[in-house]
Amino acid sequence: MIRVGLTGGIGAGKSTVAKTFIELGGHHIDADVIAREVVEPGTPGLTRLVAAFGTDILTADGALDRPALAAKAFVDDDSRRTLNSITHPLVGARTQELLDAAPDDAIVIQDIPLLVEANMAPFFHLVVMVHADTEERVRRLTELRGMPEADARARIAAQAGDEQRRAVTDVWLDNSGQPTDLAAASARLWERRLVPYEHHVRTRTAAIPDPELIAAEPSPATVNTRLTNRLWALAGANATAVDATEGAIRITARDRDAAAALAEALPPGGFAPVGEHRYASADPGRPATVEVSVGP
Ligand code: ADP
Repeated sequence: MIRVGLTGGIGAGKSTVAKTFIELGGHHIDADVIAREVVEPGTPGLTRLVAAFGTDILTADGALDRPALAAKAFVDDDSRRTLNSITHPLVGARTQELLDAAPDDAIVIQDIPLLVEANMAPFFHLVVMVHADTEERVRRLTELRGMPEADARARIAAQAGDEQRRAVTDVWLDNSGQPTDLAAASARLWERRLVPYEHHVRTRTAAIPDPELIAAEPSPATVNTRLTNRLWALAGANATAVDATEGAIRITARDRDAAAALAEALPPGGFAPVGEHRYASADPGRPATVEVSVGP
């Protein structure tokens, strides 16, 4: 199983890419659906929101009145934090449940608008960014989705900028052209990278680097940082240091038990065992080697 995080500003084309992946067999975990599910009538989530914000966040039939909640929760940072402290853990727990239930050979697609803002990139095998210029996004949001122009611009301005996104992105999908171009690029990515990557992870085999994929790397300057962050996310407290130079990564394990824990954690995370304490990338688009040594 691999997890693919789809990101990009509002109106860039994330849903359009997700649709292509789903048609090709992707296993979709939809953050919007989960966010609604955890505060449905009768859920502990809704009970806690009412306890925090009062019964006037409910409609007459007892469902969550989103505009009423927004009016109360977005007035200041404390209220926003209260809202997030209730909903985020519930969304996280439900997402984990759905991930645990996904088939072993799933290519999981998660469309996460705030992936960059929430520093979630290291938790995915691959981050795919869908890009379209601001003016084109405003045009699509207003003409195709009926959003008032001021709303579209305000929402775009509140999100991370393209440069911030590019820094954590593994794959860049340009959506300046026709929807059919985007669908074709998504299908190519699926066949050439996602399917082999998933197969390698499941069978614990290192990938043969694919020069065409490597040449399309959107942000060569941040590859080492992305690899390091990914390995920290997989290693957690088992590592005391993670250093990367040009795709060669050295992890210092806290002790022998930690090195054994890393041998469990790295292969499902995308680094196949190739020798004692040695691993290599399962992603054909990003070659890397990992060597684990035992501290101090
Ligand atoms: P996001 O999920 O990133 O907010 P969407 O995939 O919903 O963006 O795309 C925004 C709108 O633009 C939708 O109405 C979609 O059908 C339309 N759209 C997406 N890609 C294109 C394209 N290349 N040309 C024209 N319209 C597009």
